[in-house]
Amino acid sequence: MPLPSVAPTESDEISLVEERFLSKETVQRVVVIGAGECAARFVTTLRELNYSGSIVLLGDEGLAPYERPPLSKQTLLNPTTPEPTVVLTKKRLREINANFDLNDCALSIDRSLRQVTTRNSATYTYDRLLFATGARSRPLPFDGAKHALMLRTHSEALLLRDALRPGTKVAVIGGGFIGLEVAASARSLGCNVTVIEVADQLMGRAVPAEIAALMEQRHRNEGVGFKLGIGVQSIELTTNEPRYDVNLTDGLTIQADLVVAGIGAVPETTLAAACGLEIANGIAANEHLRTSDPFIYAAGDCVSFPHPLYDYRRIRLETWQNAHDHGVVAAANVFGGSETASSVPWFWSDQYDLTLQVAGLSFGPTRLLRTRGDGVVLHFSLDADGRLLSAAAVAQGSAAARDIRLAKMLIAKRAIISPELITDPAVGLKSLLSEYADHS
Ligand code: FAD
Ligand code: NAP
Repeated sequence: MPLPSVAPTESDEISLVEERFLSKETVQRVVVIGAGECAARFVTTLRELNYSGSIVLLGDEGLAPYERPPLSKQTLLNPTTPEPTVVLTKKRLREINANFDLNDCALSIDRSLRQVTTRNSATYTYDRLLFATGARSRPLPFDGAKHALMLRTHSEALLLRDALRPGTKVAVIGGGFIGLEVAASARSLGCNVTVIEVADQLMGRAVPAEIAALMEQRHRNEGVGFKLGIGVQSIELTTNEPRYDVNLTDGLTIQADLVVAGIGAVPETTLAAACGLEIANGIAANEHLRTSDPFIYAAGDCVSFPHPLYDYRRIRLETWQNAHDHGVVAAANVFGGSETASSVPWFWSDQYDLTLQVAGLSFGPTRLLRTRGDGVVLHFSLDADGRLLSAAAVAQGSAAARDIRLAKMLIAKRAIISPELITDPAVGLKSLLSEYADHS
Protein backbone atom coordinates (compact mmCIF):
# COMPACT_ATOMS: atom_id res chain seq x y z
CA MET A 1 0.00 0.00 0.00
CA PRO A 2 1.47 3.40 -0.87
CA LEU A 3 2.17 5.65 2.05
CA PRO A 4 -0.60 8.18 2.48
CA SER A 5 0.35 11.74 1.79
CA VAL A 6 -0.29 13.79 4.90
CA ALA A 7 0.29 17.49 4.53
CA PRO A 8 1.83 18.61 7.83
CA THR A 9 -0.07 21.41 9.48
CA GLU A 10 0.81 23.66 12.38
CA SER A 11 -1.04 21.45 14.81
CA ASP A 12 0.37 18.23 13.41
CA GLU A 13 3.34 17.38 15.55
CA ILE A 14 4.05 14.06 13.89
CA SER A 15 7.27 14.18 11.91
CA LEU A 16 7.37 12.82 8.40
CA VAL A 17 9.86 10.20 9.58
CA GLU A 18 7.22 8.84 11.94
CA GLU A 19 4.69 8.69 9.11
CA ARG A 20 6.44 5.63 7.71
CA PHE A 21 5.14 3.66 10.70
CA LEU A 22 1.61 4.55 9.84
CA SER A 23 0.50 1.99 7.32
CA LYS A 24 -2.04 -0.82 7.42
CA GLU A 25 0.70 -3.44 7.10
CA THR A 26 2.51 -2.34 10.23
CA VAL A 27 -0.66 -2.02 12.27
CA GLN A 28 -1.63 -5.50 13.43
CA ARG A 29 -2.73 -4.90 17.03
CA VAL A 30 -5.28 -2.26 17.95
CA VAL A 31 -6.39 -1.78 21.55
CA VAL A 32 -9.39 0.38 22.56
CA ILE A 33 -9.90 1.68 26.09
CA GLY A 34 -13.54 2.43 26.82
CA ALA A 35 -16.55 0.67 25.33
CA GLY A 36 -19.07 3.43 24.66
CA GLU A 37 -20.61 4.90 21.51
CA CYS A 38 -17.31 6.11 20.12
CA ALA A 39 -15.46 2.83 20.69
CA ALA A 40 -18.30 0.88 19.06
CA ARG A 41 -18.18 3.03 15.95
CA PHE A 42 -14.38 2.85 15.84
CA VAL A 43 -14.26 -0.93 16.06
CA THR A 44 -16.91 -1.50 13.38
CA THR A 45 -15.29 1.03 11.06
CA LEU A 46 -11.91 -0.69 11.40
CA ARG A 47 -13.45 -3.86 9.98
CA GLU A 48 -15.38 -1.95 7.31
CA LEU A 49 -12.00 -0.58 6.20
CA ASN A 50 -10.79 -4.18 5.86
CA TYR A 51 -8.43 -4.07 8.80
CA SER A 52 -7.69 -7.73 9.51
CA GLY A 53 -5.39 -7.50 12.53
CA SER A 54 -6.38 -8.02 16.15
CA ILE A 55 -8.78 -5.77 18.07
CA VAL A 56 -9.02 -5.66 21.86
CA LEU A 57 -11.91 -3.71 23.39
CA LEU A 58 -11.81 -2.94 27.12
CA GLY A 59 -14.85 -1.64 28.97
CA ASP A 60 -15.42 -1.24 32.69
CA GLU A 61 -19.22 -1.06 32.95
CA GLY A 62 -19.86 -4.79 32.51
CA LEU A 63 -22.08 -4.06 29.49
CA ALA A 64 -21.76 -4.18 25.73
CA PRO A 65 -21.47 -0.66 24.21
CA TYR A 66 -24.82 1.10 24.67
CA GLU A 67 -26.47 4.45 23.96
CA ARG A 68 -26.53 6.98 26.79
CA PRO A 69 -29.19 9.35 25.35
CA PRO A 70 -32.15 7.09 26.35
CA LEU A 71 -30.94 7.01 29.99
CA SER A 72 -32.58 10.32 30.89
CA LYS A 73 -35.62 9.70 28.70
CA GLN A 74 -37.02 6.30 27.67
CA THR A 75 -35.14 4.36 30.40
CA LEU A 76 -36.75 6.45 33.15
CA LEU A 77 -40.19 6.27 31.58
CA ASN A 78 -40.15 2.54 30.85
CA PRO A 79 -42.73 0.72 32.99
CA THR A 80 -40.81 -2.57 32.81
CA THR A 81 -37.17 -2.96 33.77
CA PRO A 82 -35.40 -1.55 30.74
CA GLU A 83 -32.39 -3.08 29.08
CA PRO A 84 -29.68 -0.74 27.78
CA THR A 85 -29.93 0.17 24.09
CA VAL A 86 -26.92 -1.82 22.94
CA VAL A 87 -25.16 -0.53 19.82
CA LEU A 88 -22.67 -3.38 19.41
CA THR A 89 -23.72 -6.74 20.80
CA LYS A 90 -21.27 -9.33 22.08
CA LYS A 91 -22.48 -11.60 19.27
CA ARG A 92 -21.58 -8.94 16.71
CA LEU A 93 -18.21 -8.38 18.38
CA ARG A 94 -17.47 -12.08 17.99
CA GLU A 95 -18.66 -12.03 14.36
CA ILE A 96 -16.21 -9.27 13.53
CA ASN A 97 -13.49 -11.14 15.36
CA ALA A 98 -12.90 -8.58 18.08
CA ASN A 99 -11.57 -9.66 21.47
CA PHE A 100 -13.28 -7.93 24.32
CA ASP A 101 -13.39 -7.76 28.08
CA LEU A 102 -16.30 -5.57 29.12
CA ASN A 103 -15.63 -6.05 32.80
CA ASP A 104 -12.09 -4.84 33.00
CA CYS A 105 -10.48 -1.47 33.49
CA ALA A 106 -7.26 -0.30 31.87
CA LEU A 107 -5.04 0.79 34.75
CA SER A 108 -1.67 1.68 33.30
CA ILE A 109 0.14 2.17 30.02
CA ASP A 110 3.79 1.63 29.28
CA ARG A 111 4.29 3.76 26.20
CA SER A 112 7.85 2.57 25.55
CA LEU A 113 6.70 -1.08 25.43
CA ARG A 114 3.33 -0.06 23.96
CA GLN A 115 1.48 -2.10 26.54
CA VAL A 116 -1.77 -1.66 28.47
CA THR A 117 -2.18 -3.39 31.83
CA THR A 118 -5.61 -3.90 33.36
CA ARG A 119 -7.28 -4.40 36.73
CA ASN A 120 -7.66 -8.12 35.87
CA SER A 121 -3.85 -8.25 35.45
CA ALA A 122 -4.04 -8.72 31.70
CA THR A 123 -1.42 -7.09 29.47
CA TYR A 124 -2.14 -6.11 25.87
CA THR A 125 0.50 -4.94 23.39
CA TYR A 126 -0.62 -2.45 20.77
CA ASP A 127 0.56 -0.98 17.51
CA ARG A 128 -2.17 1.63 17.88
CA LEU A 129 -4.18 2.54 20.95
CA LEU A 130 -7.46 4.47 21.10
CA PHE A 131 -8.63 6.32 24.19
CA ALA A 132 -12.45 6.40 24.07
CA THR A 133 -12.80 6.86 27.81
CA GLY A 134 -15.63 9.41 27.64
CA ALA A 135 -16.48 11.64 30.55
CA ARG A 136 -17.80 11.28 34.09
CA SER A 137 -20.24 13.34 36.12
CA ARG A 138 -18.73 16.41 37.70
CA PRO A 139 -18.78 15.84 41.47
CA LEU A 140 -20.87 18.20 43.60
CA PRO A 141 -18.65 20.71 45.41
CA PHE A 142 -20.56 20.93 48.71
CA ASP A 143 -21.43 18.97 51.88
CA GLY A 144 -23.90 16.13 51.54
CA ALA A 145 -23.02 15.42 47.92
CA LYS A 146 -23.38 11.68 48.58
CA HIS A 147 -27.14 12.11 49.01
CA ALA A 148 -27.64 13.12 45.37
CA LEU A 149 -28.14 10.61 42.56
CA MET A 150 -26.11 11.29 39.42
CA LEU A 151 -26.84 10.06 35.91
CA ARG A 152 -24.19 8.83 33.53
CA THR A 153 -24.54 5.04 33.38
CA HIS A 154 -27.30 2.51 32.83
CA SER A 155 -27.03 1.29 36.44
CA GLU A 156 -27.45 4.87 37.72
CA ALA A 157 -30.49 5.27 35.45
CA LEU A 158 -32.06 2.15 36.96
CA LEU A 159 -31.53 3.51 40.49
CA LEU A 160 -33.11 6.80 39.52
CA ARG A 161 -36.00 5.13 37.71
CA ASP A 162 -36.90 3.12 40.81
CA ALA A 163 -36.93 6.28 42.93
CA LEU A 164 -39.21 8.29 40.62
CA ARG A 165 -42.66 7.48 42.03
CA PRO A 166 -45.82 9.57 41.59
CA GLY A 167 -45.89 12.29 44.24
CA THR A 168 -42.14 12.11 45.00
CA LYS A 169 -40.68 15.54 45.72
CA VAL A 170 -37.61 15.79 43.53
CA ALA A 171 -34.94 18.49 43.79
CA VAL A 172 -32.87 18.65 40.61
CA ILE A 173 -29.51 20.41 40.95
CA GLY A 174 -28.36 21.81 37.59
CA GLY A 175 -30.52 23.19 34.80
CA GLY A 176 -28.48 21.67 31.98
CA PHE A 177 -29.42 18.73 29.79
CA ILE A 178 -29.44 16.05 32.45
CA GLY A 179 -31.35 18.27 34.87
CA LEU A 180 -34.04 19.23 32.36
CA GLU A 181 -34.46 15.84 30.74
CA VAL A 182 -34.77 14.25 34.19
CA ALA A 183 -37.22 17.00 35.21
CA ALA A 184 -39.37 16.27 32.14
CA SER A 185 -39.32 12.52 32.77
CA ALA A 186 -40.04 12.97 36.48
CA ARG A 187 -43.01 15.28 35.78
CA SER A 188 -44.36 12.81 33.24
CA LEU A 189 -44.22 10.19 36.01
CA GLY A 190 -46.19 12.44 38.38
CA CYS A 191 -43.34 13.70 40.59
CA ASN A 192 -43.17 17.23 42.03
CA VAL A 193 -40.04 18.82 40.61
CA THR A 194 -37.92 21.86 41.47
CA VAL A 195 -34.84 22.66 39.38
CA ILE A 196 -32.03 24.66 41.01
CA GLU A 197 -29.69 26.32 38.52
CA VAL A 198 -26.80 28.54 39.51
CA ALA A 199 -26.97 30.61 36.31
CA ASP A 200 -29.88 32.86 35.33
CA GLN A 201 -30.44 30.90 32.12
CA LEU A 202 -31.10 27.21 31.60
CA MET A 203 -28.68 25.20 29.40
CA GLY A 204 -26.58 28.36 29.21
CA ARG A 205 -23.45 26.76 27.79
CA ALA A 206 -24.96 25.39 24.62
CA VAL A 207 -28.38 26.90 23.91
CA PRO A 208 -29.28 30.47 22.92
CA ALA A 209 -31.25 32.37 25.55
CA GLU A 210 -34.33 32.77 23.34
CA ILE A 211 -34.65 29.01 22.83
CA ALA A 212 -33.82 28.21 26.46
CA ALA A 213 -36.64 30.58 27.51
CA LEU A 214 -39.14 28.60 25.40
CA MET A 215 -38.06 25.37 27.05
CA GLU A 216 -38.25 26.98 30.50
CA GLN A 217 -41.81 28.13 29.79
CA ARG A 218 -42.82 24.64 28.72
CA HIS A 219 -41.41 23.20 31.96
CA ARG A 220 -43.27 25.84 33.97
CA ASN A 221 -46.48 24.98 32.11
CA GLU A 222 -45.92 21.37 33.10
CA GLY A 223 -45.63 22.45 36.76
CA VAL A 224 -41.87 22.40 37.28
CA GLY A 225 -40.61 24.99 39.77
CA PHE A 226 -37.34 26.84 39.22
CA LYS A 227 -34.73 28.47 41.43
CA LEU A 228 -32.54 30.32 38.96
CA GLY A 229 -29.38 32.25 39.77
CA ILE A 230 -29.08 30.38 43.06
CA GLY A 231 -26.51 27.82 44.15
CA VAL A 232 -26.67 24.96 46.60
CA GLN A 233 -24.76 25.14 49.89
CA SER A 234 -25.36 21.64 51.23
CA ILE A 235 -27.68 18.66 51.25
CA GLU A 236 -28.69 17.35 54.67
CA LEU A 237 -30.39 14.10 55.58
CA THR A 238 -33.30 14.83 57.94
CA THR A 239 -35.11 12.58 60.38
CA ASN A 240 -38.47 13.68 58.97
CA GLU A 241 -40.30 13.23 55.72
CA PRO A 242 -39.27 14.39 53.17
CA ARG A 243 -35.81 13.08 53.80
CA TYR A 244 -33.55 15.83 52.54
CA ASP A 245 -33.00 19.53 53.10
CA VAL A 246 -31.34 21.17 50.13
CA ASN A 247 -29.87 24.38 51.55
CA LEU A 248 -29.54 27.17 49.01
CA THR A 249 -27.11 30.07 48.88
CA ASP A 250 -29.98 32.58 49.36
CA GLY A 251 -30.71 31.08 52.80
CA LEU A 252 -33.83 29.18 51.72
CA THR A 253 -34.22 25.41 51.99
CA ILE A 254 -35.95 23.06 49.58
CA GLN A 255 -37.28 19.83 51.06
CA ALA A 256 -37.12 16.76 48.89
CA ASP A 257 -37.60 13.00 48.95
CA LEU A 258 -35.02 12.66 46.22
CA VAL A 259 -32.10 14.78 45.03
CA VAL A 260 -30.73 14.37 41.50
CA ALA A 261 -27.74 16.32 40.22
CA GLY A 262 -26.31 17.06 36.78
CA ILE A 263 -23.81 19.87 36.99
CA GLY A 264 -21.69 18.96 34.02
CA ALA A 265 -19.19 16.32 33.01
CA VAL A 266 -15.42 16.11 33.18
CA PRO A 267 -13.40 14.28 30.54
CA GLU A 268 -11.93 10.97 31.70
CA THR A 269 -8.22 11.69 31.35
CA THR A 270 -6.77 9.99 34.45
CA LEU A 271 -4.98 7.21 32.63
CA ALA A 272 -3.86 9.42 29.73
CA ALA A 273 -2.36 11.92 32.15
CA ALA A 274 -0.67 9.17 34.15
CA CYS A 275 1.13 7.89 31.06
CA GLY A 276 2.32 11.40 30.18
CA LEU A 277 0.03 12.35 27.30
CA GLU A 278 -0.62 16.04 26.82
CA ILE A 279 -3.86 17.14 28.48
CA ALA A 280 -5.76 20.33 27.64
CA ASN A 281 -9.42 20.21 28.73
CA GLY A 282 -9.39 16.56 27.70
CA ILE A 283 -6.73 14.43 26.06
CA ALA A 284 -5.07 16.83 23.62
CA ALA A 285 -5.07 15.60 20.02
CA ASN A 286 -4.52 17.17 16.62
CA GLU A 287 -7.28 17.52 14.04
CA HIS A 288 -6.69 13.89 13.01
CA LEU A 289 -7.33 12.84 16.64
CA ARG A 290 -3.71 11.79 17.11
CA THR A 291 -2.42 12.55 20.60
CA SER A 292 1.06 13.74 21.57
CA ASP A 293 2.13 10.09 21.14
CA PRO A 294 1.93 9.09 17.44
CA PHE A 295 0.79 5.58 18.35
CA ILE A 296 -2.11 6.77 20.46
CA TYR A 297 -5.41 8.34 19.35
CA ALA A 298 -8.25 9.78 21.40
CA ALA A 299 -11.87 10.35 20.39
CA GLY A 300 -15.32 11.26 21.68
CA ASP A 301 -16.09 13.05 24.95
CA CYS A 302 -12.54 12.58 26.29
CA VAL A 303 -10.61 14.46 23.58
CA SER A 304 -9.96 18.10 22.79
CA PHE A 305 -8.96 18.88 19.21
CA PRO A 306 -8.46 21.89 16.93
CA HIS A 307 -11.60 22.32 14.81
CA PRO A 308 -11.07 23.70 11.27
CA LEU A 309 -14.43 25.49 11.31
CA TYR A 310 -13.33 27.52 14.33
CA ASP A 311 -9.89 28.59 13.06
CA TYR A 312 -8.41 25.46 14.60
CA ARG A 313 -9.39 26.57 18.10
CA ARG A 314 -9.14 23.62 20.48
CA ILE A 315 -12.62 22.43 21.45
CA ARG A 316 -14.14 19.45 23.24
CA LEU A 317 -17.65 18.22 22.54
CA GLU A 318 -19.91 16.03 24.66
CA THR A 319 -22.46 14.88 22.12
CA TRP A 320 -23.62 11.60 20.67
CA GLN A 321 -22.95 12.70 17.08
CA ASN A 322 -19.42 13.79 17.91
CA ALA A 323 -18.65 10.43 19.56
CA HIS A 324 -20.01 8.67 16.50
CA ASP A 325 -18.10 10.82 13.96
CA HIS A 326 -14.87 10.64 15.93
CA GLY A 327 -15.00 6.86 15.96
CA VAL A 328 -15.08 6.88 12.15
CA VAL A 329 -12.32 9.50 11.78
CA ALA A 330 -10.00 7.79 14.27
CA ALA A 331 -10.48 4.40 12.55
CA ALA A 332 -9.54 5.89 9.18
CA ASN A 333 -6.47 7.55 10.67
CA VAL A 334 -4.85 4.78 12.68
CA PHE A 335 -3.33 3.50 9.44
CA GLY A 336 -1.98 6.92 8.56
CA GLY A 337 -5.06 8.41 6.93
CA SER A 338 -5.52 12.15 7.19
CA GLU A 339 -9.24 12.45 7.87
CA THR A 340 -10.02 15.59 9.78
CA ALA A 341 -12.49 15.79 12.63
CA SER A 342 -14.46 18.63 11.11
CA SER A 343 -18.18 17.89 11.43
CA VAL A 344 -20.44 20.77 12.36
CA PRO A 345 -21.22 20.28 16.06
CA TRP A 346 -24.81 19.13 16.59
CA PHE A 347 -26.92 17.74 19.39
CA TRP A 348 -30.54 17.25 20.36
CA SER A 349 -32.40 17.07 23.64
CA ASP A 350 -35.87 15.57 24.13
CA GLN A 351 -38.00 17.15 26.84
CA TYR A 352 -41.71 16.18 26.95
CA ASP A 353 -42.86 15.98 23.31
CA LEU A 354 -40.43 18.74 22.31
CA THR A 355 -37.11 18.20 20.63
CA LEU A 356 -34.49 20.88 20.96
CA GLN A 357 -31.65 20.87 18.46
CA VAL A 358 -28.57 23.03 18.12
CA ALA A 359 -26.12 23.03 15.20
CA GLY A 360 -22.93 25.07 15.44
CA LEU A 361 -21.06 26.16 18.48
CA SER A 362 -21.11 29.82 19.23
CA PHE A 363 -23.68 32.56 19.11
CA GLY A 364 -22.87 35.78 17.24
CA PRO A 365 -24.10 39.35 17.59
CA THR A 366 -27.00 38.96 15.14
CA ARG A 367 -29.71 36.71 16.52
CA LEU A 368 -32.86 36.01 14.55
CA LEU A 369 -36.01 34.08 15.33
CA ARG A 370 -38.24 32.54 12.72
CA THR A 371 -41.53 30.98 13.82
CA ARG A 372 -43.27 28.75 11.35
CA GLY A 373 -46.98 28.08 11.05
CA ASP A 374 -46.48 24.48 12.19
CA GLY A 375 -45.11 25.63 15.56
CA VAL A 376 -41.44 25.12 14.73
CA VAL A 377 -39.29 27.89 16.21
CA LEU A 378 -35.91 28.43 14.58
CA HIS A 379 -33.11 30.59 15.89
CA PHE A 380 -30.15 31.67 13.77
CA SER A 381 -27.07 33.51 14.85
CA LEU A 382 -24.71 35.33 12.51
CA ASP A 383 -21.27 36.77 13.16
CA ALA A 384 -20.36 40.40 12.47
CA ASP A 385 -19.75 39.56 8.77
CA GLY A 386 -23.16 37.92 8.43
CA ARG A 387 -21.75 34.39 8.43
CA LEU A 388 -24.11 31.75 9.83
CA LEU A 389 -22.63 30.50 13.12
CA SER A 390 -25.40 28.42 14.60
CA ALA A 391 -28.98 27.32 14.22
CA ALA A 392 -31.23 26.11 16.99
CA ALA A 393 -34.78 24.82 16.90
CA VAL A 394 -37.60 23.74 19.15
CA ALA A 395 -40.27 21.59 17.59
CA GLN A 396 -42.52 18.65 18.22
CA GLY A 397 -40.58 15.48 17.52
CA SER A 398 -38.55 15.63 14.34
CA ALA A 399 -40.44 18.56 12.71
CA ALA A 400 -37.29 20.71 12.60
CA ALA A 401 -34.85 17.96 11.63
CA ARG A 402 -34.68 18.95 7.96
CA ASP A 403 -34.12 22.64 8.75
CA ILE A 404 -31.30 21.82 11.12
CA ARG A 405 -29.74 19.44 8.60
CA LEU A 406 -29.77 22.20 5.97
CA ALA A 407 -28.47 24.74 8.48
CA LYS A 408 -25.56 22.41 9.26
CA MET A 409 -24.64 22.43 5.57
CA LEU A 410 -24.84 26.22 5.45
CA ILE A 411 -22.63 26.47 8.55
CA ALA A 412 -20.13 24.05 7.00
CA LYS A 413 -20.05 26.21 3.86
CA ARG A 414 -19.39 29.26 6.05
CA ALA A 415 -22.25 30.86 4.18
CA ILE A 416 -22.91 34.57 4.50
CA ILE A 417 -26.66 35.07 4.65
CA SER A 418 -28.89 38.08 4.68
CA PRO A 419 -30.98 38.37 7.88
CA GLU A 420 -34.03 39.26 5.78
CA LEU A 421 -33.84 36.05 3.77
CA ILE A 422 -33.16 33.67 6.62
CA THR A 423 -36.12 34.99 8.63
CA ASP A 424 -38.49 35.05 5.64
CA PRO A 425 -40.93 32.14 6.08
CA ALA A 426 -41.36 32.04 2.30
CA VAL A 427 -37.65 31.31 1.74
CA GLY A 428 -36.59 27.70 2.19
CA LEU A 429 -33.16 26.95 3.63
CA LYS A 430 -32.59 24.62 0.68
CA SER A 431 -32.82 27.53 -1.74
CA LEU A 432 -30.29 29.43 0.37
CA LEU A 433 -27.97 26.48 0.23
CA SER A 434 -27.97 26.36 -3.55
CA GLU A 435 -27.77 30.13 -3.80
CA TYR A 436 -24.84 30.64 -1.47
CA ALA A 437 -21.54 29.42 -2.77
CA ASP A 438 -18.52 28.81 -0.57
CA HIS A 439 -17.41 31.87 1.31
CA SER A 440 -14.53 30.17 3.09
P1 FAD B 1 -18.86 7.30 26.90
O1 FAD B 1 -20.22 7.03 26.36
O2 FAD B 1 -18.76 8.03 28.20
O3 FAD B 1 -18.09 5.91 27.00
C1 FAD B 1 -16.83 5.79 27.61
C2 FAD B 1 -16.72 4.43 28.28
O4 FAD B 1 -15.36 4.22 28.66
C3 FAD B 1 -17.54 4.32 29.55
O5 FAD B 1 -18.25 3.12 29.55
C4 FAD B 1 -16.48 4.31 30.63
O6 FAD B 1 -16.90 3.63 31.81
C5 FAD B 1 -15.34 3.59 29.92
N1 FAD B 1 -14.01 3.77 30.51
C6 FAD B 1 -13.46 4.92 30.98
N2 FAD B 1 -12.21 4.70 31.44
C7 FAD B 1 -11.96 3.37 31.26
C8 FAD B 1 -10.84 2.53 31.53
N3 FAD B 1 -9.72 3.00 32.10
N4 FAD B 1 -10.92 1.20 31.24
C9 FAD B 1 -12.06 0.71 30.67
N5 FAD B 1 -13.13 1.46 30.37
C10 FAD B 1 -13.09 2.77 30.67
N6 FAD B 1 -25.86 13.52 23.55
C11 FAD B 1 -26.68 14.00 22.58
O7 FAD B 1 -26.17 14.49 21.55
N7 FAD B 1 -28.03 13.96 22.71
C12 FAD B 1 -28.63 13.44 23.82
O8 FAD B 1 -29.84 13.43 23.92
C13 FAD B 1 -27.79 12.94 24.86
N8 FAD B 1 -28.33 12.44 25.98
C14 FAD B 1 -27.51 12.02 26.99
C15 FAD B 1 -28.09 11.54 28.17
C16 FAD B 1 -27.29 11.15 29.22
C17 FAD B 1 -27.93 10.68 30.49
C18 FAD B 1 -25.89 11.21 29.11
C19 FAD B 1 -25.02 10.78 30.26
C20 FAD B 1 -25.31 11.65 27.95
C21 FAD B 1 -26.11 12.07 26.87
N9 FAD B 1 -25.57 12.55 25.68
C22 FAD B 1 -26.39 13.01 24.69
C23 FAD B 1 -24.12 12.61 25.48
C24 FAD B 1 -23.60 11.34 24.76
O9 FAD B 1 -24.19 10.20 25.30
C25 FAD B 1 -22.08 11.28 24.93
O10 FAD B 1 -21.53 12.40 24.27
C26 FAD B 1 -21.51 9.97 24.37
O11 FAD B 1 -21.96 8.89 25.12
C27 FAD B 1 -19.99 9.99 24.40
O12 FAD B 1 -19.51 8.77 23.95
P2 FAD B 1 -18.04 8.25 24.30
O13 FAD B 1 -17.94 6.90 23.70
O14 FAD B 1 -17.07 9.30 23.94
O15 FAD B 1 -17.99 8.16 25.88
P1 NAP C 1 -24.44 20.67 31.54
O1 NAP C 1 -25.33 20.63 30.36
O2 NAP C 1 -23.10 21.29 31.46
O3 NAP C 1 -25.30 21.40 32.66
C1 NAP C 1 -24.88 21.55 33.97
C2 NAP C 1 -25.61 22.75 34.52
O4 NAP C 1 -25.48 22.77 35.93
C3 NAP C 1 -25.04 24.06 33.99
O5 NAP C 1 -26.08 24.90 33.63
C4 NAP C 1 -24.27 24.57 35.19
O6 NAP C 1 -24.17 25.96 35.20
C5 NAP C 1 -25.12 24.10 36.32
N1 NAP C 1 -24.42 24.05 37.60
C6 NAP C 1 -23.08 23.91 37.81
N2 NAP C 1 -22.83 23.89 39.14
C7 NAP C 1 -24.03 24.03 39.78
C8 NAP C 1 -24.43 24.07 41.14
N3 NAP C 1 -23.51 23.95 42.12
N4 NAP C 1 -25.73 24.25 41.43
C9 NAP C 1 -26.66 24.35 40.46
N5 NAP C 1 -26.34 24.31 39.13
C10 NAP C 1 -25.05 24.13 38.80
O7 NAP C 1 -24.21 19.20 32.12
P2 NAP C 1 -25.22 18.02 32.49
O8 NAP C 1 -26.61 18.41 32.26
O9 NAP C 1 -24.82 17.57 33.87
O10 NAP C 1 -24.84 16.92 31.46
C11 NAP C 1 -23.67 16.12 31.69
C12 NAP C 1 -23.26 15.42 30.43
O11 NAP C 1 -24.32 14.68 29.86
C13 NAP C 1 -22.77 16.35 29.38
O12 NAP C 1 -21.73 15.68 28.75
C14 NAP C 1 -23.95 16.48 28.47
O13 NAP C 1 -23.58 16.81 27.14
C15 NAP C 1 -24.50 15.09 28.52
N6 NAP C 1 -25.94 15.10 28.22
C16 NAP C 1 -26.33 15.56 27.02
C17 NAP C 1 -27.66 15.59 26.72
C18 NAP C 1 -28.08 16.14 25.41
O14 NAP C 1 -27.26 16.57 24.62
N7 NAP C 1 -29.38 16.09 25.14
C19 NAP C 1 -28.60 15.12 27.61
C20 NAP C 1 -28.17 14.68 28.84
C21 NAP C 1 -26.81 14.67 29.11
P3 NAP C 1 -22.83 26.64 34.61
O15 NAP C 1 -22.84 26.36 33.15
O16 NAP C 1 -23.02 28.07 34.94
O17 NAP C 1 -21.68 25.99 35.31
